[in-house]
Amino acid sequence: MIDVFWHPAVLDHDTGRGIFEGGPSDLLDVPELHPENAEWVRNMVSVLQRGPLADRLRWHDGRLAGEDELAAVHDPAYIAMLREACEQGGRVFAPSTLVTGESWRPLLAAAGTAMAAGDAVISGSSRIVYAPVRPPGHHAAPATADGYCFFNHVALVAERALAAGCERVAIIDWDVHHGNGTQACFYDRADVLTVSLHMRHGSWGPSHPQTGSPAEVGVGRGAGHNVNAELGLGGGIRAYEAAFTQVIRPILDQYRPDLIVGACGQDASGFDPNGRQNLLMAGFRRVGRMVAEAAGDLCDGKLVLVQEGGYARTYAAYCLHATLEGVLGTGPLLADPIGYLPDDAARGDGDIAALRTYLSPFWRLP
Ligand SMILES: [Zn+2]
Repeated sequence: MIDVFWHPAVLDHDTGRGIFEGGPSDLLDVPELHPENAEWVRNMVSVLQRGPLADRLRWHDGRLAGEDELAAVHDPAYIAMLREACEQGGRVFAPSTLVTGESWRPLLAAAGTAMAAGDAVISGSSRIVYAPVRPPGHHAAPATADGYCFFNHVALVAERALAAGCERVAIIDWDVHHGNGTQACFYDRADVLTVSLHMRHGSWGPSHPQTGSPAEVGVGRGAGHNVNAELGLGGGIRAYEAAFTQVIRPILDQYRPDLIVGACGQDASGFDPNGRQNLLMAGFRRVGRMVAEAAGDLCDGKLVLVQEGGYARTYAAYCLHATLEGVLGTGPLLADPIGYLPDDAARGDGDIAALRTYLSPFWRLP
């Protein structure tokens, strides 16, 4: 059983349309929505309400965050600046990271609902929870908006767990992008282990100074407690399994977290406009299973899942369903509607040796 925490106000943050995040173009009659739009989360909610997992989910109302609660992670001046930006009608923080005059309540609903979900596990009333919230949070640092994100939801959950008496919290982030904001929150601390599995994308500007490289391991007391599994483009599930079984799970076994928080993204799918990691539903099922097995073995199954990115408007919802099938260990319940080619990380750049063998009788190949 998974307890799902939901607040419909998260749908009211309107990011506009264009060539995905590239802004509008006079060249096109039909624009796309901004990748981070309300529709992908609507589909996630509907697939859970109407899909084969429906009878394994219990729904709960989310809530708005208080500004004092946000201050557990974020600078008060940053919180006030964001509120004022919304009150003044909106602001663009980076070309693709913006608020409008209507965004403040959605931002509070996303953070508050993630915290409500976390509190249910922290208090012992739930074992596994999931919060479908947006905008995502893992790029937000204590005083910096970045990558569509404003408040770092998984960091807020981790801080609440520590305040309630947990000694060690592990955050596992499988959004396809580096969880730089979460890394920044805890980089010099050992009470939160931050793990990010992401594609190799590097820094993307002043708001995102970290590269996400494996060399970023933490500093001071936090040394060794930041794990960046930077996976090659197109790696598919084999890359995730290798990183998880060879590095992440052994570290978790030694760290012995009291709680695991999953930054649950689906933008690693093979059909995501923002991802190149090529996971299919079977891959997300496997990721969900590996994370839930770790929680089961290490922290009495306590697992808080908070939605991060997932921008394929329809497929991300199916991938979320598959992730939760994996978490619950049900096996496949929902067929993959489009992922007809299985993950294939073994071939890498393709079988060039065979190609040369077949064609070298006819052509001189260097
Ligand atoms: Zn992402």
